[in-house]
Amino acid sequence: MNFYETLTAAVNDIIEYGFDSKKRIDYWLEKIKKAAEKELIPQHQVQAELEKSLNNAYSRLVTKGGLINKEISRFTIDRLKPKLRAELDRRIMASANLIKYNREDAINNTLRRFEGWATSIPKGGNKTTNKVKQKQDIRKSLGKMPFEQRRVIIDQTHKLISNINNIVAVDNGAIAARWHSHWRQMNYDYRKDHKERDEHIYLIRGNWASEKGLIKAVDGYTDDITMPGEEVYCRCNYVYIYDIGSLPENFLTIKGKKALSQVKK
Ligand SMILES: [Zn+2]
Repeated sequence: MNFYETLTAAVNDIIEYGFDSKKRIDYWLEKIKKAAEKELIPQHQVQAELEKSLNNAYSRLVTKGGLINKEISRFTIDRLKPKLRAELDRRIMASANLIKYNREDAINNTLRRFEGWATSIPKGGNKTTNKVKQKQDIRKSLGKMPFEQRRVIIDQTHKLISNINNIVAVDNGAIAARWHSHWRQMNYDYRKDHKERDEHIYLIRGNWASEKGLIKAVDGYTDDITMPGEEVYCRCNYVYIYDIGSLPENFLTIKGKKALSQVKK
């Protein structure tokens, strides 16, 4: 029996007999666990896919010059290469454990959900409710596990991109960063507090313009909050700001305004 068939048999059995003994529940938990382990993508395969995805992102940004723009030169990227390479290696090293935990979580969540549901069905089974609908609901919530397995790849790749961008921007003298949330995107399960951060500008602590007393924090600092991509499945990103003229006026101190008007003359 594959995972789906096992699940169907388990759901049917519980709906028929209900929670009449711990033995019945344990029997199915064991069966579902075995079927899930067999059904999941093998760990080494997820690992290979993840490494490929991380290497591709690194190569696109660093090797092929994806980071280079009017603020960031090839020279800067070349100088930062060892640091960026270390970031990639660090993430690849961490991924084996991450995949292992992710896999255990996926199985445990499925078992927990099944147990929670099964123990709520009275002895003698559930005669009153719509059995067909109930079967569908429980199978649906349990059956999405294989899909979630690949989210770790997307998530880790986004984290790598976010960190590489941050290392380069800070080294290159960025003074602030504007948060960008994809909350307008259809079907995107955004975090409410990240939606609130959208378009807000956070200063980078210790940046040169603050040190010179030219700017002040309005929304706080980047180290007051999580990084884009730091929280699980977050797809937000930063747009980095390098000069005080690109900040809204309320970020400038009197000294900053003076300095800016002199530049403009
Ligand atoms: Zn986010």
